[in-house]
Amino acid sequence: MVKGFRRLKRRGLAKGDRPVAEKLFMRLDPFLVRYQGDAVRISVKPREFLYIRLKYGDYQRRLIEEWRAGKLEVGEIVVNGTGVYIPFKKATAQVEPRGWIAVDVNETNVTAVSTDSHVLRFETNLREIRSAYFEKRRRIQELSKRKPKTSERLMAKYSERERNRVRDLLHKLSRRLVEFAKQHGLGIVLEDLKHIRARIRRSKRMNRRLHSLPFRRLQFYVEYKARLVGLPVVYVDPKHSSTLCPVCGGRLAPNGRRVSRCGRCGYESDRDVIACLNLLRRAPGCGEPPLPPKATEASWAEVERVVIKCRLRDNG
Ligand SMILES: [Zn+2]
Repeated sequence: MVKGFRRLKRRGLAKGDRPVAEKLFMRLDPFLVRYQGDAVRISVKPREFLYIRLKYGDYQRRLIEEWRAGKLEVGEIVVNGTGVYIPFKKATAQVEPRGWIAVDVNETNVTAVSTDSHVLRFETNLREIRSAYFEKRRRIQELSKRKPKTSERLMAKYSERERNRVRDLLHKLSRRLVEFAKQHGLGIVLEDLKHIRARIRRSKRMNRRLHSLPFRRLQFYVEYKARLVGLPVVYVDPKHSSTLCPVCGGRLAPNGRRVSRCGRCGYESDRDVIACLNLLRRAPGCGEPPLPPKATEASWAEVERVVIKCRLRDNG
């Protein structure tokens, strides 16, 4: 930031004689930061330092002590208007997975199927939350002509509240998923978004899915939490994962609201479960996932039994 300011100053574009951050945000190379007493010392220029006093609890104190003792590495430090974020890197031993669990994200739920034949379904009410806040923002917008200050304040308040809700939901969901994976010793299979982006325009379903949930952020939380407990995470190409039969590769056709049926072999199942099975098959070293020959009453009951409500209150 300081460097950028000097450049602007030279061109006569900056006012004043010191940089003023509109919105403070700095990323710092860990190399430039030392821990000193109760503060972090940031090198601004050679032999010129900025000190930021740290406030922390017991948990952070332990990490800081390990850092000082040279047992922990530190990642890119971020300073913004509310605090200093110091990411500690801990080397965790990678666990050899006993199986895999694939995750499919869609408009109303997140479905996961494992090679040890468990189906988890996390129901989310994110779409409702989003449209409720969308409506709120629209009403606040109407207020902006008559009471611009109030409108601005309300807008900031509700935007932050919505952001927090979404983040809480994603954390809750990823935590429960990774806890399950840990208990069962499962590696995690996620969809490679690079491939998804390329196909957005062609698929309505893909488009809706991407807009219904902060997809990439959920993946980030899942991967982060999985790595902390040493579970491997792999990304696979999700191409045709919801349109091809996981048993014979034939074309699937919708058969009821959530069910797909293979025109070639007659295999029939929940379409999100099918997507997961296809992802599982593409994970390296995963082997053949257990495929129920046909969705029976019993296997439906199994899916319904593991529905996990991952909802947030939608009032407020
Ligand atoms: Zn088939």
